[in-house]
Amino acid sequence: MALHIGGHVDSTDPIAEARARGGTLSQFFLGDPQSYKGPTIAYAAGPAALKADAEAAGVDLYVHAPYPINVASTNNRIRIPGRKLLQQHLTAAAEIGAKGVIVHGGHLGKDEDAAIGFDNWRKCIDGLDMPVPLLIENTAGGDNAMARRLEAIARLWDAIGAAEGGDTVGFCLDTCHAWAGGNDLSTMVDRILAITGRIDFVHANDSRDTFDSGADRHTNFGSGEIDGTEVSDLVRAAGCPVVVETPGGVEGQSADITWLRDHVGS
Ligand SMILES: [Zn+2]
Repeated sequence: MALHIGGHVDSTDPIAEARARGGTLSQFFLGDPQSYKGPTIAYAAGPAALKADAEAAGVDLYVHAPYPINVASTNNRIRIPGRKLLQQHLTAAAEIGAKGVIVHGGHLGKDEDAAIGFDNWRKCIDGLDMPVPLLIENTAGGDNAMARRLEAIARLWDAIGAAEGGDTVGFCLDTCHAWAGGNDLSTMVDRILAITGRIDFVHANDSRDTFDSGADRHTNFGSGEIDGTEVSDLVRAAGCPVVVETPGGVEGQSADITWLRDHVGS
């Protein structure tokens, strides 16, 4: 299986970043990942040129939504701006011809009723215009996360399935988050597929922290706590595009991409 793979890169020239890593795709933020400010396209020639140039280069683009987005939140001042920001990113992603927008599953406070969070997800999907697929990513931490453990992901998918357009929402499986979130990587693909029927994207990362630690700290393959074979087996089983969100820039990510290619095999 020829891996369709790349790195999480700076957004100025994601095509050059893919080439520098020997990759066929790039993932990036549209602006400051910690901010509620709307998306910006850093590519000098503008969004239409980025779309055309990426197509010509055979590089697929994926947009990662900003971290503060938490559409499950019971707090109007978090949930409503988050929905707006997510919509802005979906719209901008379409302008650059991106294949998807990845967003974290979000969470509630420890003592809040999770059912409200799942229903907020349903309402969010109902209200979104999705010109490109929205891919919900599993997260590592939190006691009341919407997409950390399988039981929650099943409830999330039930809620989304009841929303208009819910059948177009996809899943992004992060190996560091799954591990640190307390999920068995060897069965994760089958168990996610049993819930969602699809895995659209894999974030392949090692974890600096131990199993079920709840910590979200990515690292390069071989320098973290995960047995590399578990990651390569998961990538092979998922059979979808892959991005490494690991440190070390071009050098570090190129090594991770090469490692995965060698271990997933052909
Ligand atoms: Zn990730």
